[in-house]
Amino acid sequence: MRTVNAIAATSATAPLVRTTVERRDPGPRDVLIEIRYAGICHSDIHTVRGEWGEVAYPLTVGHEIVGHVVEVGAEVTKHKIGDRVGVGCMVNSCRECENCRAGLEQYCTGGNVGTYASVDRDGTITQGGYSTHVVVDEDFVLRVPENIPIEAVAPLLCAGITTYSPLAHWNAGPGKKVAVIGMGGLGHMAVKIAAAMGAEVTVLSQTLSKKDDGLAFGAENYYATSDPATFEALANTFDLIINTVSAQTDINAYLRLLRLDGTLVSVGAPPEPLPVRAFVLFGARRSFAGSSIGGIAETQEMLDFCAEKGIAPEIELIDADAVNEAYERVVASDVRYRFVIDIDSLR
Ligand code: NAP
Ligand code: ZN
Ligand code: ZN
Repeated sequence: MRTVNAIAATSATAPLVRTTVERRDPGPRDVLIEIRYAGICHSDIHTVRGEWGEVAYPLTVGHEIVGHVVEVGAEVTKHKIGDRVGVGCMVNSCRECENCRAGLEQYCTGGNVGTYASVDRDGTITQGGYSTHVVVDEDFVLRVPENIPIEAVAPLLCAGITTYSPLAHWNAGPGKKVAVIGMGGLGHMAVKIAAAMGAEVTVLSQTLSKKDDGLAFGAENYYATSDPATFEALANTFDLIINTVSAQTDINAYLRLLRLDGTLVSVGAPPEPLPVRAFVLFGARRSFAGSSIGGIAETQEMLDFCAEKGIAPEIELIDADAVNEAYERVVASDVRYRFVIDIDSLR
C-alpha cells in the first residue's frame, strides 16, 4: 500500500481539498501509473455534488487520466515501464458476461468497476485520477500514441470515446448529416471526430458565441438554440444527433430535427428525465437512444484514429488549486473546451 497526494470532495457542497489516497501494491497483472494530467469531466461534478445519487466521501474523482508506467506486476505483458498510457472511466468488469466477451465492458451486465466511486474487487471504493498515481489492471490500461501532445490526451479517455462510440455505431461518415447539441467537453470532440469521419456536421449551441471555434473544429453549420427560427429551419434534417447537454432540455424539439429513420443519441446525463412524446418519434420513424463511453478495444481504436487524423482536445491547463473555480466555469458553460489538471502541481 502507498499513500499518494490527491484532491477530494468531502461533501456534496464543500469545495474540493488537497488530501491523500491509498493505492494498493500492484498485483501480478497490475500496472502502477504516475499520472501526469487528468481531465475534468462534467460527470465528476454530477458525482461529487450528489446529483446522480449518494456517494461515499471523501471521494477523489477523475476518469480522464494520462501518465507513464512506473511499475508492472510479474505477469503483465501489455505494458512496460516508461510507456505512455491512459485510463478512462472503467478499471475492471466481470469479463464473463455476453457484453464483456463482445468487448463491450461498459455494458457489463454485472456492472463494470468505475474508475471512481465504485466497489473495487477488494471491496474498497475506487478513487479516481485527480491524484499522482493509480494502480490499474493491465487490461484496462490504454496505449497512448506518441504524436498526441501529452497534456491534451486525457480528455480523449472519456469525452473522446463517449462521442466516438455512438458516431461509429450509427455510421457517421460521408453523406450523413450529423448535429451535435452543446459544444462543451464532449460536444467539441463530437464535432472534431464526426468531421474527421467525413460527416457534414452542424453545431446546435445555446448562442453563436463559439461559432468561429465550431467551424474551425470542422463543423459546416452552426446555429443558436436560443433562436426559435433554428428549429423551423432545421426540421427533418439530420440522420444523427448527438446530445451532449448536461442539463434538462426539451428533447422533443430536437427529435423533430431528425429526418426519416434518424436517431438522436443522448450521451448527456442530466439528473432529471428527458420525457419523449411518442408522436414525435412515429411521425418520421425516429429513434431515441443512449450510449455509454466505449469498450476498451474501441477506446484504443479511438486513440489510434485521433492520432492518425491529428485530432486533439482543446484544453485549458490548470493547477490543482484551481479545480473549484474550474467546476464553476464548467457548470456555467464557460469551458473552452476541457479543463485539464497538471498533476505536477500535486506533487
Ligand atoms: P460540459 O463541458 O459542461 O458541456 C455541456 C454543454 O452543454 C455546455 O458546454 C453547453 O454547451 C451545453 N449546456 C449546458 N447547460 C445547458 C442548458 N441548461 N441548456 C442547454 N445547453 C446547455 O460537459 P461534458 O463534460 O461535455 O459532459 C456533458 C454531459 O455528458 C454531462 O451530463 C456528463 O455527465 C455526460 N457524460 C456522459 C457520458 C456517457 O458515457 N454517456 C460520458 C461523459 C459525460 P453550449 O454552451 O454550446 O450550449
Ligand atoms: Zn467523463
Ligand atoms: Zn461483464
